[in-house]
Amino acid sequence: MKPKYKRVIIKLSGEALAGSAGHGIDTPTVQAICSQIKEVFDLGVEIAIVVGGGNFWRGRSGEGMDKSTADYMGMLATCINALGLQDVLEEMEVPVRVQTAIEMKQIAEPYIRRKAVRHLEKRRVVIFACGTGNPFFTTDTTAALRAAEIDAEIILLAKSIDAVYDSDPLTNSEAIRYSELSYIDVLNQGLKVMDSTATSLCMDNHIPILVFGLNEPKNILRAIMGEKIGTIIQEV
Ligand code: UDP
Repeated sequence: MKPKYKRVIIKLSGEALAGSAGHGIDTPTVQAICSQIKEVFDLGVEIAIVVGGGNFWRGRSGEGMDKSTADYMGMLATCINALGLQDVLEEMEVPVRVQTAIEMKQIAEPYIRRKAVRHLEKRRVVIFACGTGNPFFTTDTTAALRAAEIDAEIILLAKSIDAVYDSDPLTNSEAIRYSELSYIDVLNQGLKVMDSTATSLCMDNHIPILVFGLNEPKNILRAIMGEKIGTIIQEV
């Protein structure tokens, strides 16, 4: 079977790397995610990863702080995660390059779009760190932006929940599960999939988003093969 997509962005939240502890980096959890990534990499798929930082710090954690400073701290947190992912992927013999939106040349390359695309063509996984490099944004918006920049066919939005619901299925047993949504539905219903800036950017640039759960061990592969899992958000 052939993969459905040739070039994808995988968005991993910081929390996805934390395992049951809910904070920091849990190595077995990261290894499990990376072995899924290796599996699809070995199929020839070009993979760029955008990683969040919520397992260490989010802008909103800094109550009473200057908002931009708190956001820069969040961007640095994404960099810790990027290095953690790089290390585990390299251990699995997957070639990786980290590119940061804020220059820190001693530890990673700066973000250069054309170079990122070249890495992908040369069969390297690229990890985008430090978000967009700007406060007041999120790593979901980064995923949308980078997807547009590198011509990714889809954003694979890996979550701790298996799909998009109209309310929290953990607290509401009647919650409705969606298998398909339009961008406008997400925006109008205020569904908490990704922030509205990220959703709008995907809508304007016609980038589909597949929301799915990372808890199923084969889900990244299933998503890449075009299986109907999770919720697809696209033009209808
Ligand atoms: N952030 C930012 N600009 C960006 C991306 C991220 O300021 O372009 C900051 C923001 O404070 C955010 C934090 O970095 O809360 C961590 O990113 P995010 O919350 O998106 O991580 P996730 O929830 O995916 O773990």
